[in-house]
Amino acid sequence: MNYDLLIDLHKDGKRQGPGDDTHTQLALNFSGLLQRSELLKLADIGCGTGASTLVLAENLNAAITAVDLFPQFLNILQRKAKHKKLKGKIEALPCSMDSLPFQENSLDAIWTEGAIYNMGFKKGVAYFKRFLKPKGILSISEITWLTQNRPEDLTSYWHSEYPEIAIGSEKIKILEQQGFTLKAYFPLPESCWFDSYYHPLQNRFKDFLAKHTSEEAQSIVNSEIHEIEQYKKYRDYYSYAFYIAEKI
Ligand code: SAH
Repeated sequence: MNYDLLIDLHKDGKRQGPGDDTHTQLALNFSGLLQRSELLKLADIGCGTGASTLVLAENLNAAITAVDLFPQFLNILQRKAKHKKLKGKIEALPCSMDSLPFQENSLDAIWTEGAIYNMGFKKGVAYFKRFLKPKGILSISEITWLTQNRPEDLTSYWHSEYPEIAIGSEKIKILEQQGFTLKAYFPLPESCWFDSYYHPLQNRFKDFLAKHTSEEAQSIVNSEIHEIEQYKKYRDYYSYAFYIAEKI
């Protein structure tokens, strides 16, 4: 996998996955964090160029650690934070989500949009839990089946891409088994895929292919096109969904 090419294709997007500020804000409303006036300690894991991090920083009295594997994304986040005068609230940490440097029971909330699949949902939930204080909030957006039944080719495609894709009730069960109480669940609408992710991504293909003429670059674009076609065809059956939960 050529990460440099993937980073170059995705770094200029507002987001690196489906979502938008309105739905980050909605999750924030459900989290109860907006009512807290003391300084909160948060981490935004797999933050990419930080669309959600900036919403959190704008709305909370918080010290936020923005974690991503790729410093190239974090540099962009830092630029945006500076522009919005939010730099003092955000610390960028290039680090893998499975080896976080936080102390146990030290965070008021962990936020993670469209990224926990890199560890796997179950493993990620169990791992992140230790860093949360009691009553700490875990807010996750994760790929989710919207229906119990669906076309067979879709099921087999996703089972090879990400076998942990599941219906919301199964993900909620995992959270409950791991010692969380669910505060809210909601699937993201189509606009979160097209308006803030796929359409801007498609608009970058031409320049990306002009800049990178390799076969590898073409094959990255082809697989994005395939993913978009797949979503257009089967959007009734899956989306990202938010899970907002509290550590018991
Ligand atoms: N939260 C952002 C990005 C989602 S895309 C948004 O919603 O726009 C997934 C992100 O996870 C990417 O930024 C990618 O660089 C990051 N990532 C992938 N593997 C990771 C790992 N092992 N540790 C931390 N971040 C990782």
